[in-house]
Amino acid sequence: MVEKVYYSYLDIHKMCQNSCREIETKFNADVILAIGGGGLIPARMARTVLKKPIYVVSLSVYDKNDNLLETPKVVQWLDFSMFSKDTKFLIIDEVDDTRKTLSFLLNKLKNEEHINGANIGVFVLHNKKKDKFITNEDLNINLYYAGKEIEDKWIVYPWDRTYCKKTLL
Ligand code: 5GP
Repeated sequence: MVEKVYYSYLDIHKMCQNSCREIETKFNADVILAIGGGGLIPARMARTVLKKPIYVVSLSVYDKNDNLLETPKVVQWLDFSMFSKDTKFLIIDEVDDTRKTLSFLLNKLKNEEHINGANIGVFVLHNKKKDKFITNEDLNINLYYAGKEIEDKWIVYPWDRTYCKKTLL
């Protein structure tokens, strides 16, 4: 059985607020780019501090039976031609696990005209300390910020169904 660790909405709010106050001093994002679905609620919380508009790209790394996909699937993409070449993006996701999703997204973004690593920051609530799909250096971005570094356990977020099961017992 994989060990689980639970975080409440209050934990996540506090983490988002503290992290975003620090991020603001390092990286002046023009827009928040949430990775749907996991990054949606953290992005909304982050907006209360950063006060930037939220855009969404939606990716899936699990199929409908919760099996891990070889390559993440693009559920929804954005028309990046609406942004100027100087736009700075703060990508937000809930957790950096194997980093497959993040590396896939960064590769895809860097194929977009005008977008380069200097204009990209990443904020994840949690980074799991484990072997990654690509190293921090190979991310080649302006900022990588994790609210908390944690051991390789399964995180149950307050928006996960299993969180209700646990807390209603
Ligand atoms: P990756 O392995 O690509 O870094 O993470 C892919 C996605 O798997 C994450 O964005 C997240 O949705 C999901 N995931 C990975 N680890 C966890 C976890 O511990 N808890 C939850 N709730 N989702 C996770």
